[in-house]
Amino acid sequence: MTKLRAALLRWYRRHRRDLPWRRTRDPWAIWVSEAMLQQTRVETVVPYYERFLRRFPDVGTLATADLEDVLGLWAGLGYYSRARNLHGAARQVIQRYHGRIPETAEELRTLPGVGRYTAGALASIAFDRPEPVVDGNVARVLARLHGIREDLARPAVQARLWEEAARLARGPDPGDLNQALMELGARVCTPRTPDCAACPVASGCRARRAGEVDSIPRPRARPAPRRVRAVAALVTRGGRVLAVRRAESGLLGGLWELPGSEIGARERPGRALRPALAERTGLAVDEVEAVGVVTHLFTHRRVETHVFRARAAPGRVRLSDYVAHRWVSREGLRALPQGRAARRAMELALSGSGDAPALARTRGSRMLARRSAPGP
Ligand code: SF4
Repeated sequence: MTKLRAALLRWYRRHRRDLPWRRTRDPWAIWVSEAMLQQTRVETVVPYYERFLRRFPDVGTLATADLEDVLGLWAGLGYYSRARNLHGAARQVIQRYHGRIPETAEELRTLPGVGRYTAGALASIAFDRPEPVVDGNVARVLARLHGIREDLARPAVQARLWEEAARLARGPDPGDLNQALMELGARVCTPRTPDCAACPVASGCRARRAGEVDSIPRPRARPAPRRVRAVAALVTRGGRVLAVRRAESGLLGGLWELPGSEIGARERPGRALRPALAERTGLAVDEVEAVGVVTHLFTHRRVETHVFRARAAPGRVRLSDYVAHRWVSREGLRALPQGRAARRAMELALSGSGDAPALARTRGSRMLARRSAPGP
């Protein structure tokens, strides 16, 4: 164990990437980085991290911010519950801990959105506590090192991985040790074709000795994403367009979008649009025109959104499911915090739609052969 730790730390100090959150011991900055890095690539996170910390340099500035501003800076990064939780957790740190971020994993885990992984990362990296972390990269490294052939999702196997990680973290520099495991998994012990020749712990690796590197960890069958169809429309009135805000809980909570709705597998989008808008906004529309389709892959769903432009008939907005609406200019619409799929639908609807839309208006709806590439 001592040799293994020493090899990992030596390798990490020599080969680690120079990342902005590794140049600080500020717990707030480290917390923000850990929240952003979940399910997200390092290269994607860096510019978001820097912008976010410029705007919210400490826990207090985030706690007093509007959630909408927070979501605005998070827009495009995905998994928006992370931003909502960070915002809620910052408020709790102010109320319960007088602005001091707690140091123990146990206390950290009482905060919204802070699970075992984030608590371990924060306690070890920012506060030098001997707490373990197990994310996908660490799990793969440990499974190979210890020759664990079972499905890593099984609770008993998860418990074993956390135990192995905890044994490693009980030594000097637990923060660096944890980051060494993560870095090794990200750069050397990769899912496919790990670079065992460059690995600092190759001599103690059971998977390598047994020639089982390619079969550990055991690959998991993932269900194909479910296909979902939806309609959305750029609804105009007197030179302004209608934006609606989703409820704060749930997928994309608190973000803005064009009004619309999911539709049935067999429904015709052009027919489904009017009833969908009537139900969700209370508005009747005319001069409907089809603009195109945006397809976006979420974790378990492939959503195909049929995008329209339409003019609102006189009448008041009465929302269903949405929690707020605004009539905004086109620039105002672009400035609202939106998820990536909603933004692509909005840009498609706005393209060529000055105050006098370039496309011919029809009473019914017409689908143009314009299809954007599937999202990441
Ligand atoms: Fe991973 Fe290869 Fe190192 Fe084993 S020797 S931990 S399989 S990179």
